[in-house]
Amino acid sequence: LGLTLKNISIKVKNSKNKTIYTDFGEMMFAHFGLTGPVILSASAHMKNIKSEHYMIELDLKPGLSEKQLDERILRDFSENLNKDFKNSLNKLMPKKLIDPIIEMSEIDPLKKVNSITKSERTALVKLLKCIKFSVVDFCPIEQAIVTSGGINVKEINPSTMESKIVDGLFFAGEIIDVDAYTGGFNLQIAFSSGFLAGTSC
Ligand SMILES: Cc1cc2nc3c(=O)[nH]c(=O)nc-3n(C[C@H](O)[C@H](O)[C@H](O)COP(=O)(O)OP(=O)(O)OC[C@H]3O[C@@H](n4cnc5c(N)ncnc54)[C@H](O)[C@@H]3O)c2cc1C
Repeated sequence: LGLTLKNISIKVKNSKNKTIYTDFGEMMFAHFGLTGPVILSASAHMKNIKSEHYMIELDLKPGLSEKQLDERILRDFSENLNKDFKNSLNKLMPKKLIDPIIEMSEIDPLKKVNSITKSERTALVKLLKCIKFSVVDFCPIEQAIVTSGGINVKEINPSTMESKIVDGLFFAGEIIDVDAYTGGFNLQIAFSSGFLAGTSC
């Protein structure tokens, strides 16, 4: 699809339908699946990807309650009463999203806006507030931006970065079992721990 969405929110749910992560910001639909800042951050919380079934719920209009969104759609509809449904959503969402949303809404794209029922509109509102994606897997490790796992921080002296187990062995960056959100934190960890390890050794 190749589409960037800004100002969206996501919820990650586990197999028990419990929300384990929420975020607000930017994401992308890519040819391989979902990506972008909120998705990368969310992936850090899907620790048991092999055994759990995670769902991502995407809210396209997090700034509006269902009631406010319904009023907004009603307003858009009132300006397009004699148009086909498929031609009434231009103001509400990016062009590339219109066809998939129409398909998911199960409303006939050629239906005249003035004959869309209240229950169809309610279903559309619920869809825009909660599009569900089943998480199949991560991308391959070669494409990872940061990895969790590595040398346990408890085995490192934090004032020198020297191993508590092997004298004269210093650690920095990615090899340590720390991982942070995308946005510069991992580079900061690498720079700071690298500086400390370098000056200490
Ligand atoms: C695509 C991508 C985007 C990223 N974006 C961000 C971001 O926006 N913000 C952020 O904070 N972090 C980001 N990161 C993560 C960040 O780049 C890493 O956490 C950080 O670079 C780790 O630094 P490091 O020095 O520990 O490891 P590395 O940068 O991996 O350096 C390790 C070096 O060791 C070399 N090496 C490996 N084996 C040997 C060997 N046997 N002998 C000699 N040399 C060897 C490697 O060639 C490499 O140069 C991104 C990573 C990727 C891949």
